[in-house]
Amino acid sequence: MNSSAKVVIPVTELESPAFCSDDKEKLKAQTLTDEFAVGVRWQKIPNEYVKMDVSDLDNRIRNAKSKLSERLLILGHHYQRDEVIQYADYTGDSYKLSKFAASNKSAEYIVFCGVHFMAETADILSTDFQKVVLPNLTAGCSMADMAEEDDVIDCWDDLDNLLASDGGITPITYMNSSAAIKGLCGKNGGIVCTSSNAVDAFKWALKNNERILFLPDQHLGRNTALKLGFKLDEMIIWNPFKPLGGNTKSAIKKAKIILWKGHCSVHTRFNTNQIDLARSKYPDVNVIVHPECTMEVVNSADYVGSTEYIKDMIENSKQGSIWAVGTEISLVNRISTMYPEKNIFCLDSAVCPCSTMYRIHPAYLCWVLESFLDGEIVNQISVEPDIKRDSIVALNRMLQL
Ligand code: SF4
Repeated sequence: MNSSAKVVIPVTELESPAFCSDDKEKLKAQTLTDEFAVGVRWQKIPNEYVKMDVSDLDNRIRNAKSKLSERLLILGHHYQRDEVIQYADYTGDSYKLSKFAASNKSAEYIVFCGVHFMAETADILSTDFQKVVLPNLTAGCSMADMAEEDDVIDCWDDLDNLLASDGGITPITYMNSSAAIKGLCGKNGGIVCTSSNAVDAFKWALKNNERILFLPDQHLGRNTALKLGFKLDEMIIWNPFKPLGGNTKSAIKKAKIILWKGHCSVHTRFNTNQIDLARSKYPDVNVIVHPECTMEVVNSADYVGSTEYIKDMIENSKQGSIWAVGTEISLVNRISTMYPEKNIFCLDSAVCPCSTMYRIHPAYLCWVLESFLDGEIVNQISVEPDIKRDSIVALNRMLQL
């Protein structure tokens, strides 16, 4: 099966009680049979793997890894569960992992334990000889899914009609978008960015044009524009479900920044009440959040930055420091276990992982690795050649920033 095969990615289960609780223990991997019992609809795999317990899976994954040796590279995103990240040869946020995927030209199989857009990016940046595999094809990203290709094309056509004779507009897409959207940006003078380099991508775009279309995360776009000195009344939202995105022609012509109406379900759970509560409990607390959080949360935090920045800041802080963190719970728990001498906790007391990242269960990893040993490649992600050609333009612009 490859990425062009039709896979229905279910809507996020984030709000389901199965995924949000006050019990960290619930995040521990069980057999897939038990995890399926809460009603999730993930990719079906052979029954043998569905029933296997975590310790059997562990033995078989380690055995397959050692047999595949240098032919295999496992990449693990920081938000991945502990029971999966332990097998990663390299871990990072999407920016770090995309740079790594671009630099590694030797592994035959790249297994991306992350979400769909990350595996697509790895496929775009890797060589033809390398096969990129996403262990569970339903591991999408609810934010990336908010920018459907057809809707973005309609938006781009509208903007082109209105603005082409008036200086045009430069598209910037966040890494968390499909390869097709990255391709649209590459074809139209645009660029890809991550939360680590969004400011530089904006500066790059503003050298060529005074207007920016940013998609799909309105919050990262707004927070970045504010950091660069833009005012809120210079920004409008593009709602793909309304004609002209819900704007008048004159508002579009006047706007400097057009923000696609998308968001991350994980990072928009944080709010300023949680920050106030943390500060009232711990007057010396450092509040650190991701720029996918809302403007109010970002403005109220002490530090704001990418997942990698958050990790580095906490790792390099002094013993005994206190951190209230506004990012994905699996990473927060992991850092807190690594540094027991620091008090590190998630701003949100409910335990809500990124539910799509969570779909990579060790059983899926075991299945794809053992399939390689049987000479079969399952769940290969292969981006169409024309989309690859256009998106690599936008990705290379980012890598050269
Ligand atoms: S944390 Fe948010 S943006 Fe990141 S993969 Fe999950 S849903 Fe997508």
